[in-house]
Amino acid sequence: MNNLTISQAHKGLLEKKFSALELTKLFLNKIKKQDKKISAFLTITDDLALSQAKQVDKLISDNKKIPILAGIPLAVKDNILVDGVKATCASKILENYIAPYDATCIKKLKQPGAVILGKTNLDEFAMGSSTEHSAFSPTKNPNDLTRVPGGSSGGSAAAVSADLCCYALGSDTGGSIRQPASFCGVVGLKPTYGAVSRYGLIAFASSLDQIGPITKTAEDAQIVFKAISGKDKKDSTSVELSETRVSVKLKDLRIGIPKEYFIKGMDSEVEKIIRQAIKKIQEIGAKVEEISLPHTEYGLAVYYLIMPSEASANLARYDGVKYGLSKSAKDLLNVYLDSRAGGFGDEVKRRIMLGTYALSAGYYDAYYLKAQKVRTLIKHDFDKAFNKVDAIFTPTSPFPAFKLGEKIKDPVSMYLSDIFTACVNLVGLPAVSMPVGFAGKLPVGLQIIGKPFEENKILEISKVYG
Ligand code: GLN
Repeated sequence: MNNLTISQAHKGLLEKKFSALELTKLFLNKIKKQDKKISAFLTITDDLALSQAKQVDKLISDNKKIPILAGIPLAVKDNILVDGVKATCASKILENYIAPYDATCIKKLKQPGAVILGKTNLDEFAMGSSTEHSAFSPTKNPNDLTRVPGGSSGGSAAAVSADLCCYALGSDTGGSIRQPASFCGVVGLKPTYGAVSRYGLIAFASSLDQIGPITKTAEDAQIVFKAISGKDKKDSTSVELSETRVSVKLKDLRIGIPKEYFIKGMDSEVEKIIRQAIKKIQEIGAKVEEISLPHTEYGLAVYYLIMPSEASANLARYDGVKYGLSKSAKDLLNVYLDSRAGGFGDEVKRRIMLGTYALSAGYYDAYYLKAQKVRTLIKHDFDKAFNKVDAIFTPTSPFPAFKLGEKIKDPVSMYLSDIFTACVNLVGLPAVSMPVGFAGKLPVGLQIIGKPFEENKILEISKVYG
């Protein structure tokens, strides 16, 4: 029962090689034994998992047909609500917050009988690229325990990579599914903006946030994406999807390689592995051409204005009254001040300050509004490119997993981790990070960016690599 994909686990259940309860217990035991050294999980939901597994076993013993996700154990990033379970966002301010309802994606997974093993670690409020900004403990990369798993969905990616679950959910605002997937050697899909409901996702930057799967194979990502996507009347940005599976003919495929994504200073091993991956798809028939996305150089600056602006507005709700931590103080103003000062970590405070500044009267036009205009230019670059090509290949990250502690003291060098992923969120496109090789023992991910709502196509293309 080792390293099972969703499809293999489903087959095992159907063929009665093991029961859902046995499978669930196997993962719970593994988590108990192995997660001490990785710290992928913040909460383990044994009782919930065992009762969900038993229900599925009952269906199987009654000879009922079970959906593909029934009885399959998953891990959930701790910024996604699971009714009755803590949702801490890895923040002191929500340390004891219990979710009062299920996020829509959780509802959609519980319905066919998914088994929730627990909640995974992240950078506080999903702000970061290493999971070191968790208020509780950093997560370690299972491929090398001295290194970070990436972030902010580092706990989810590490849990999948260490085989502590069959798959996981993450969220991606500027790269938080793809970059940790790349660092941990697993598959991570950021869906198109609107493809998956965010109802029940703790809001970070609302024009950028998406929920998506972290899996062992591209096929598994398709299975989970199908289950969680679609219109939800509780999230007005969500849309109904028409397309499901597509077949991709490699000889008709045009792949664009943006020259701006192969930059000076990127790791030479990473570049070599990505170039080999490009060569591979070319050799088996796809047409590969160089393209240009000329406004790429502004992407990171635009992201680091829009994201903190939205975060500063979203995080205003943590005032010591409505949710979570509440410090007693001599008057209401001091309740606000003390709760926020004591509840938020440094990185969260840094972004609230940046965002509040960018939105303030007198600076709004120069920063936030200007950033929104450049965002449109970045979108036009992609629109133009997609007139010529079907998919765009880039590295997911300019370097493989870095050492714990290496960037934590230097926010700007941490922010540079997002250089290849943030533009995709700014323009709302789907993208997958697919493992395509190793730099030493460290995994390297290829990012495949698609046209809006072509998740299945980019995942189909990913299958070339594994
Ligand atoms: N690393 C990025 C940041 O720090 C991305 C975060 C995310 O996607 N949640 O903002």
